[in-house]
Amino acid sequence: MRIGFIGLGIMGKPMAKNLLKAGHGMTVYDLAASNMEEIIADGAIAAASCREVAEKSELVITMLPNSPHVHSAVLSENGVLEGAKSGMILIDMSSIAPAASQEIEAACREKGVQMLDAPVSGGEPKAIDGTLAIMVGGDKAVFERVKDEVLLKVGASAVHCGAVGAGNTTKLVNQIIVACNIAACAEAFTLAVSAGVDPEMVFQAIRGGLAASAVMNAKVPMMMEGNFTPGFKIDLHIKDLGNVLDTGHNVGAPLPMTAMVMEMMQTLRADGRGSDDHASLANYYAKLSGITIGV
Ligand code: NAD
Repeated sequence: MRIGFIGLGIMGKPMAKNLLKAGHGMTVYDLAASNMEEIIADGAIAAASCREVAEKSELVITMLPNSPHVHSAVLSENGVLEGAKSGMILIDMSSIAPAASQEIEAACREKGVQMLDAPVSGGEPKAIDGTLAIMVGGDKAVFERVKDEVLLKVGASAVHCGAVGAGNTTKLVNQIIVACNIAACAEAFTLAVSAGVDPEMVFQAIRGGLAASAVMNAKVPMMMEGNFTPGFKIDLHIKDLGNVLDTGHNVGAPLPMTAMVMEMMQTLRADGRGSDDHASLANYYAKLSGITIGV
């Protein structure tokens, strides 16, 4: 299949490489020309605009930071819709607001373009391995058409969650659970250290019990090592929690825990820690208590 790929950043570049490896033809575009160099060396063709990508593709994937970027790449002058033929498929794999996905899909539908929202979980290592978890919203028949040939070439799983926007709603659910879980770990392990109990022993004692989680296993060792190299940056999680809170306000869902963790992350960003891994929530508690979990 002739695939177009827009947004070759941390996630987009390895995903595009995996699609090339799977034998698809590929046209690419990124605002930063230097981000296209590697994939062009691998055999992709560079376009000069999102419009040109669409003109040359049967299916276009976008992997961009947030709603305004996808809005601009698809709907603005020289955007995807200007170059798209009726019947083209657009898969937006960025993590954006569900309401933005729905608005962009409505504009696509008017041009005969079928759009799925398909954000991912797993970060750069799983993007490189092609083992992302993909959550998809949109027409089920379109999902079935692209599942094996496209989605499962970049992911280990792809689950159809409902109508357009359901993929991004699922991603927001994921981001609430991760953020609140990290904050709970930071709070709990700060208590352990404050009470004079070795955090490593606490970790070993509880990791087989109900409190254990993938988040605890990944992030508490980072807190104990004082290692806040990202991983997933505080800045990016603030972007996602902003979409969580907007969506909650739109649909009338109360989100008191998310709001609290959002303010913790905003405090860390104001402290110059926006580029830290989100395990840096431990530093919020360190600032409050004067107690550090790690070295
Ligand atoms: P990134 O900032 O590394 O890459 C984004 C790319 O988009 C950049 O190369 C930028 O130049 C390009 N871009 C921006 N606007 C553009 C436009 N209008 N036209 C063309 N190119 C444009 O971001 P990333 O880490 O790859 O994340 C992409 C998406 O994936 C985000 O929504 C993020 O939340 C999500 N995500 C990231 C991770 C992660 O660990 N990094 C994990 C899961 C999901």
